[in-house]
Amino acid sequence: MNYADVWLPLPLPHPFTYIIPPGLSVVPGHLVEVSLGRRHVVGVIGFLHEKAGHQVATDKEIKEIIRLLDSRPVVTESMFECLNWASRYYMTPLGEVLSTALPSALYRRRRTDSKKEPTIRQSPFAEHWETEKEVSLNAEQEAVYQALAEKADARVFHPALLFGITGSGKTEIYLKLLQQVLLKSKTALFLVPEIGLTPQVVARFRQVFGEKLALYHSGLTENQRLHEWRRCLEGSARVVVGTRSALFAPLASLGLIIIDEEHDASYKQEERFRYHARDLGLVRGKIENAVVLLGSATPSLESFSNARAGKYRLFTLRERPTQAVTPQIRLIDMAAYKRQTKSVLSLCSEMHEAIAETLRRKEQALVLINRRGFASSFFCLACEKSHLCPNCSVSLTYHRHNKQLLCHYCAFETKLPSICPSCGSRETTLLGLGTETVEEELKTWFPRARLSRLDRDSTQKKGYLLQTLKRMKEGKIDILVGTQMVAKGHDIPNVTLVGVLGIDAGLGLPDFRAAEKSFQLLTQVAGRAGRAEKPGRVIVQTFAPDHFSIQCACRNDYERFFEQELSFRREAGYPPEARLIQFRFSSANEKRLIDFMRCLKVHLDHMAGGPAALGPSKAPIEKIRGRFRWQVLLKGKNRDAVQKGASRIAAFAGSNIPSGVQWAVDVDPISML
Ligand code: ADP
Ligand code: ZN
Ligand code: ZN
Repeated sequence: MNYADVWLPLPLPHPFTYIIPPGLSVVPGHLVEVSLGRRHVVGVIGFLHEKAGHQVATDKEIKEIIRLLDSRPVVTESMFECLNWASRYYMTPLGEVLSTALPSALYRRRRTDSKKEPTIRQSPFAEHWETEKEVSLNAEQEAVYQALAEKADARVFHPALLFGITGSGKTEIYLKLLQQVLLKSKTALFLVPEIGLTPQVVARFRQVFGEKLALYHSGLTENQRLHEWRRCLEGSARVVVGTRSALFAPLASLGLIIIDEEHDASYKQEERFRYHARDLGLVRGKIENAVVLLGSATPSLESFSNARAGKYRLFTLRERPTQAVTPQIRLIDMAAYKRQTKSVLSLCSEMHEAIAETLRRKEQALVLINRRGFASSFFCLACEKSHLCPNCSVSLTYHRHNKQLLCHYCAFETKLPSICPSCGSRETTLLGLGTETVEEELKTWFPRARLSRLDRDSTQKKGYLLQTLKRMKEGKIDILVGTQMVAKGHDIPNVTLVGVLGIDAGLGLPDFRAAEKSFQLLTQVAGRAGRAEKPGRVIVQTFAPDHFSIQCACRNDYERFFEQELSFRREAGYPPEARLIQFRFSSANEKRLIDFMRCLKVHLDHMAGGPAALGPSKAPIEKIRGRFRWQVLLKGKNRDAVQKGASRIAAFAGSNIPSGVQWAVDVDPISML
């Protein structure tokens, strides 16, 4: 072969052709350095050809490949198959898909297989954590383990969903399965939503797998990532624990992929290559003939309906293996409470008493308030306007620690004004709740309690998150208040009270998954209470006590929630009962954007026989970072028709988009705002 396609990390739908210089032997998947214009860039070899002219060349003359950067192909044949599939399905150029899947350090132009490894200053395992004792599986757990271990042995694709209530011992099953797969000389992947939130699990894995374990997540430096990735490629690491991008770890003879908390939205990448690690995990598993195990106490509607349709084998764990019982959930109707008491405090008296009692018993409390900051907005009582971000169409949030109003979308910051910026009135107030508001109130009421806060602001400081979780586990914190970060996966025996505020705030958002998200969050956070001998209780303050997602979460009734939500999705034509593809358009120039949206509308009207196209319309958040946003949503039951329609819009946008307008396509979108 004389010519090679080279995929560069660019948003172009095609590779470039280069000459393979005499004496150089390359195969698909090799990493090479080539020239592009006057630059030298790194790319991945695709197909090889006898003749030139298959693909577009950069200049008039075809250039030679400059050099091979790694003697071993960095993309195996099966990985290529998976990424090619992803490129088609997610309508993203293969070059971009590859640059997401490979460690970014590989794209820095240098030989990577030199003997000199990049220096790893800090081992990813530097942190210590006391680990759990080993337990033997109970009969329910053992049955799941046996069934799946057998399949992992058989080298067949076997997708399964483990629906097990919080604390039902899913992690124990995962560990046993992983050990078994390793014994059979295979490798395995274990994906978690956020690694920083699960130090116990990581420490446990480290203890069990030692040097065979690789960690892969965004908290690592580029060099650490490359190091871990290379250990997988070379075969010294055989189990990978990581977040969504760990799905691309170059493990050979993969036997098992576990995706824990499969419902979690952080499995979806929200930029450039917008893949879903759960969905792509199933594709990788199919290509590699592996067992793919999805686990959750609150499965996504997508996964549970697949399981019910028989596409995944369903395993259910309804009991906790310990003496622990699932906690009772008590709802407080806050509208009624406020009418009655005229209270301006964020915590109601029952919550207050429950916390006091927990402190008296030397037990621990978690308080969830899914909004950071002090108040959600600076509101003028005279003109009834909130203070909006100048770059985004959202209200600014007051942050007490630095006395600033902050935009959560673009990080715009400004001092808290003393008068209304719109009308000059002095009659202003702060509206709404945030983690800082609640922290402040708790401090006032319980001055001697040891209080900590977990949210995106407090965890900016390196090490704070881990330290806080550790102190919580050691009983050195009495009350932990925070956002959804406090809801995920923690197993702290002395937590006996969980307080929940503002769970209904999301229900009003124009997002068809709003009910599902509050159901999941409430169930997950409730699952943190009473995980050991001491019974737990959960108090939920809500303005929507009758909402079915809150009602079902209180009764621990996933199936009922599922049925009701599914019938809503069916009627409204939303996933999993229909397929969605969303196009987003944005520009700093509103007129140019709107003009283009008019053209697109005309084009859509002529697209006869296609799927339903909603829009073009303004996005729910009309402006972010100074860019105006519009969208088109394609939906339909017929998956191929939706995909075909999307291809036509992509082709139209690709060739007609005016300069200064950007577009992106999001297949199976999660974020609807
Ligand atoms: P999940 O991942 O389903 O939320 P975990 O695996 O964290 O649940 O288990 C919850 C608790 O139950 C842990 O403290 C764990 O050590 C304990 N546990 C799990 N399986 C058993 C078992 N078979 N016997 C005794 N304790 C168990
Ligand atoms: Zn005003
Ligand atoms: Zn902003």
